[in-house]
Amino acid sequence: MPETLIKVDLAQSPYQNEKIHTRWHPDIPMAVWVNPGEDFRLETYDWTGGAIKNDDSADDVRDVDLSTVHFLSGPVGVKGAQPGDLLVVDLLDVGARDDSLWGFNGVFSKKNGGGFLTEHFPLAHKSIWDIQGMFTHSRHIPGVNFAGLIHPGLIGCLPDHKMLEKWNEREGALIATDPDRVPGLANPPYGATAHMGKLKGDAKEAAAAKGARTVPPREHGGNCDIKDLSRGSKIYFPVYVDGAGLSVGDLHFSQGDGEISFCGAIEMAGWVHMKVSLIKGGMAKYGITNPIFKPSPITPNYRDYLIFEGISVDEQGKQHYLDVTIAYRQACLNAIEYMKKFGYSGAQAYSILGTAPVQGHISGVVDVPNACATLWLPTEIFDFDINPTAEGPVKMITRDVDLPMSQDK
Ligand code: ZN
Repeated sequence: MPETLIKVDLAQSPYQNEKIHTRWHPDIPMAVWVNPGEDFRLETYDWTGGAIKNDDSADDVRDVDLSTVHFLSGPVGVKGAQPGDLLVVDLLDVGARDDSLWGFNGVFSKKNGGGFLTEHFPLAHKSIWDIQGMFTHSRHIPGVNFAGLIHPGLIGCLPDHKMLEKWNEREGALIATDPDRVPGLANPPYGATAHMGKLKGDAKEAAAAKGARTVPPREHGGNCDIKDLSRGSKIYFPVYVDGAGLSVGDLHFSQGDGEISFCGAIEMAGWVHMKVSLIKGGMAKYGITNPIFKPSPITPNYRDYLIFEGISVDEQGKQHYLDVTIAYRQACLNAIEYMKKFGYSGAQAYSILGTAPVQGHISGVVDVPNACATLWLPTEIFDFDINPTAEGPVKMITRDVDLPMSQDK
């Protein structure tokens, strides 16, 4: 057995665990050290540190304090790693914990986080997914069952001071363009709820006040939420500080491209088995400023899809110029309308698009004025025929269950 270098107790507050942190800052001390070539396991909390429960109310999703997240395991120091190197991470395996074989999907309230379709789904919803070996299904969404494409939503190395300053500066400038927007354009540093690992006293307060929030993906990787960065992948990370400082968390049992409902994956506590090695001076050698990776040799094998097209014309009929975000939103809305004809509620359909191994593609970005995006819905995840036929859709889903929903307070 590889050694488990970071253990978590799901019954304990993550703030009491010094090998957990919730901000990016170069002063966060390494939680553990390893040698290049070593393999090891890290346990992780779910991204909210246990705030969301396995029950039938969405109140916890509505009320969650998003200034606390994400709870990450690390940083892992790699001996000999120096700025300019590439840290090579083999994700040998990723899994759910035996004492926590379930995950959650949340649609966040527009007033607390929002999501890709927040104008259409402004209230908090939640679905709970049971994990049975390599498969998952939800008591809140009948008719679907699929294999997990298990991956960490968030993995990356510590920034140096210069990089951190750059992040805070550019994100602060964006926030300043519309500081009162709900949801916010970005999340500025916030010291009060920061967990800085082993850092204590004045040094902790100083770093917490500037530590970058973990929400966006950045040059170091971070919260990329790439479903294909799954167990069996090999990732090459830019190194900015001595020891690299690799942290991981926000494990997903499965996720569709875009993670569209914000907490759009099946979020779970779990463990990661990794191996690390170094390419000295690799950033300059390969011209790398953002991570690159190789996919897993083993992924769920869904071959048949219904593919929904979307163009960059918004819900009000307004023409936008080659806007891929609007085009993908239209593809998602088209898929939801279609799935509703089989009996699903809009929230159930939204949740399926967030959790199932749905593919999103940027199909065309040159045919002015419309970008074209496509959403690929795997048909084999349904236990009924979801294809169009001459007879019309058969209502397969009776609405005796739906996602728990909570009104805003
Ligand atoms: Zn996540």
